[in-house]
Amino acid sequence: MRKPVFAANWKMHNGPQDTRAFLQRFLAAYAPRDDRTVIFFPTAVSLAVAGFALRDRQDIPLGIQNIHWEDKGAFTGENSAPMARDCGASIALVGHSERRQNFGETDEMTAKKCAAAARAGLAPILCVGERAEERDRGTTLPVVLRQVKTGLGRLEKSQIPSIAIAYEPVWAIGTGKTARPEDATLVHAAIRRYLREVISARADDVPLIYGGSVTADNTAELLAASEVDGLLVGGASLDVDTWTRIVST
Ligand code: PEP
Repeated sequence: MRKPVFAANWKMHNGPQDTRAFLQRFLAAYAPRDDRTVIFFPTAVSLAVAGFALRDRQDIPLGIQNIHWEDKGAFTGENSAPMARDCGASIALVGHSERRQNFGETDEMTAKKCAAAARAGLAPILCVGERAEERDRGTTLPVVLRQVKTGLGRLEKSQIPSIAIAYEPVWAIGTGKTARPEDATLVHAAIRRYLREVISARADDVPLIYGGSVTADNTAELLAASEVDGLLVGGASLDVDTWTRIVST
């Protein structure tokens, strides 16, 4: 049985001091629950502070928003999966559309990053999603399936059940336009079918998460959709009261 996942992607918000203050308030409001998983993705400079704040809350995993595919080396400004582990992270977001759009991240790079995460013991969450023009051309499924196939292409089959996939239509991220629950179901079902071709019944272990303009008001409806196992939330995760409402839905 997959538990609902609520993942906060803070993007480039909340430095160390704001992270500490947010988590202090959140932890006071949110008692551990075993029927859901809440994850935080702070910015890399806040990761160690978040790891310290969450040290007594094993129920709340921590993730890094992006990693390099090498473990160390001359890559100024980058962070590696083993370093994220050292800060307390157990998960890595890979291939967020803002990385793909603004930093030229390709499908092949996401494959190398997924492999690097798995090598270091971080569970990758591979982000996929079509752009508005791709949706308008009716190519959502081929685009998303290409991103999934290539992104997972360097993982051993035995590593795939430990990952998650976040379907985040690019046109829905930070725009206030949310995918209809039935459209998310359609895409998630296609991803699940592909995973079944690759890893048979273990495909059912892989959470398929929706992201794109999730709010406290549309959380319940999206979570009720078939094949939607959780939510990746940007803007609405930055306000502690809103986030507490979302994870308590
Ligand atoms: C995101 O950044 O992953 C995201 C879904 O953002 P927002 O919730 O703000 O659309």
